[in-house]
Amino acid sequence: MNTPTLASDLNLCLCHSCGKSCDMSGRPLFCERCGAPLHARKTNSLSRSWAFLLTSLVFYIPANVLPVMNTSMLGNGADSTIMSGVLEFWQHGAWDIALIIFIASIAVPGVKFAVLSLLLVTAQRGSNWARKERSRLYRFIELIGYWSMLDVIVVALVAALVKFHGLADIEPRVGILFFGLVVVFTMLSAMSFDPRLIWENPTQREVANGIASH
Ligand SMILES: [Zn+2]
Repeated sequence: MNTPTLASDLNLCLCHSCGKSCDMSGRPLFCERCGAPLHARKTNSLSRSWAFLLTSLVFYIPANVLPVMNTSMLGNGADSTIMSGVLEFWQHGAWDIALIIFIASIAVPGVKFAVLSLLLVTAQRGSNWARKERSRLYRFIELIGYWSMLDVIVVALVAALVKFHGLADIEPRVGILFFGLVVVFTMLSAMSFDPRLIWENPTQREVANGIASH
C-alpha cells in the first residue's frame, strides 16, 4: 500500500505559532522565525491525558455520592444527589428537567470517560484498528467539550427555574463542586490527547518522542 509522506520522514515540524515548517535536522528547540517552542507531538500526551482522566474519575465518585443540592419541596428540606434529584424530578412529573439533568450530568461524562479510555488504550498500543473512526470519535469528544459546562449550568438553570415557579427552594451543596472538577479534568484530558498518535505506529512514535522530548 502506498503510504503518504509524513513530516517526520522529511525531518520537518510545523510551528504551532506561526505555521512555518521548520527543519528539525539540527534539533532546533525553537522556531527560527517566531521563536515559539517546537514540538512534533504534544509533550507526554498519553501520560498527561491518563492522569487527567483518572483524576476526573476519582472526582466522579464524590460528585455522585455527595449531595449536589438541597431541595425543599413543600416545606420538607432534603439533600439530594444527582441520581436522587433526577428521580425526584421524575416522580414529581418534571420529566423534562429530569431528562436534561440525566443527560448532562450522567450520560455525557460517562460517554467522555468511555471514549477517552478507548482512545488512550488504542493509541498506547499503536493499534491500527478503525483509525478513521477513532479520529472522528476524538473530534466528537472535542465538540462535546464546548458544551461541557452544560452540566453545571443546568443545575444553576434548574435552581433558577424552580425558584421562579415557586415549586420549591433549591440550594447548592458540595457535590456540585466535585462535578465542576470532573468537567474541568475531562476537558484537560481531551486537550492533552494528541490525535496524531492515532495514526502512528510504535516505531514512528519513538522517532517523534525523540524530537518532542528535548
Ligand atoms: Zn514560528
